[in-house]
Amino acid sequence: MSDDDGKVRFALEVAGGGAENADGLLAAAKNAALAVDGVSAVAAVATAHSAGAAPAPSPAGGHANPLGVRKKPQIEQAAEAMAGVKHVIAIASGKGGVGKSTVAANLAVAMAAAGYKTGLLDADIYGPSLPTLFGLKDKARLRDGKIMPVEAHGVRAMSIGMLVDPDQALAWRGPMVMGALKQLMSDVDWGTLDVMLVDTPPGTGDAHLSLIQSKRLTGAVIVSTPQEMALADVRRGVALFRKTETPILGVIENMAWLETPDGARHYVFGKGGAARVAQELDAPFLGAVPLYPALREASDAGTPLAGSDHPAVKTFAQIADKIIAAIQGATGSTAE
Ligand code: ADP
Repeated sequence: MSDDDGKVRFALEVAGGGAENADGLLAAAKNAALAVDGVSAVAAVATAHSAGAAPAPSPAGGHANPLGVRKKPQIEQAAEAMAGVKHVIAIASGKGGVGKSTVAANLAVAMAAAGYKTGLLDADIYGPSLPTLFGLKDKARLRDGKIMPVEAHGVRAMSIGMLVDPDQALAWRGPMVMGALKQLMSDVDWGTLDVMLVDTPPGTGDAHLSLIQSKRLTGAVIVSTPQEMALADVRRGVALFRKTETPILGVIENMAWLETPDGARHYVFGKGGAARVAQELDAPFLGAVPLYPALREASDAGTPLAGSDHPAVKTFAQIADKIIAAIQGATGSTAE
């Protein structure tokens, strides 16, 4: 996949047998991509697919590899620390500002309210919003060398924004993004969870590739506004997840319409665009969330609407139900 500014990102699928050569192959593929006219930078990861058999364990220490066993990528090793987490779901969007973080936070609260042990990992390195959405002011606390997630609104949550100054993260490049994600996976005491939602940065970049490489994703949920500009990126996101065999659990249309007091619906960003794209891509449509001024106010105030009789609460509960059902469909297992 390539951006307008000539940056190319890709995931290299390496079959089980050739996995020990993954580094060499990756370097060669990167060089080949860099040699193409108009390409200014390349970011790539190798995802090794074992042909049926479980991957061989890495040798202790993870360096020498005389037997040719596959060395696990560091992010995959880091993700093993989350052994108590049953399902990890990436919440993704093509563009920023479509309400992905708001939707992720409210879905997490809805899942917790429905009785699922729920976590929310705010991995939006470039604009972490969990501290605002959940009204978290404190920095992360340590216990026994582990970072303690905060319990807020029934959800176990941690944000990259609680570990580093968000202004610093703006200039981060691929390896630093992966490093931060690794830390959020392996250094945080997530304990046991039925579902963990990961709020990813907008677009399809290093954080997504790292998550895919971690081999922990049960699936991805895409959030979009109905407008065509945002939808082009949805197609790109869906293509990335599909290529890496990450199930698309569904598409959510946010800011679908604004209802005025007279009951009229105004389709500010167009009508039904995300539902159409979901159908076109053969991905489940999970539902529409209208524009609710109260939702914006609650988000800014750090107090999710949960527990109130606001219609948004029911909408998020219904979408959360559908995601749980989609997890069961994708894995054949229950989220409970
Ligand atoms: P993203 O994570 O996609 O960048 P945010 O979740 O930060 O987007 O949302 C952007 C802004 O839109 C925030 O001010 C948020 O409160 C507001 N917002 C998101 N969804 C809705 C909605 N359905 N109704 C009203 N405001 C919303």
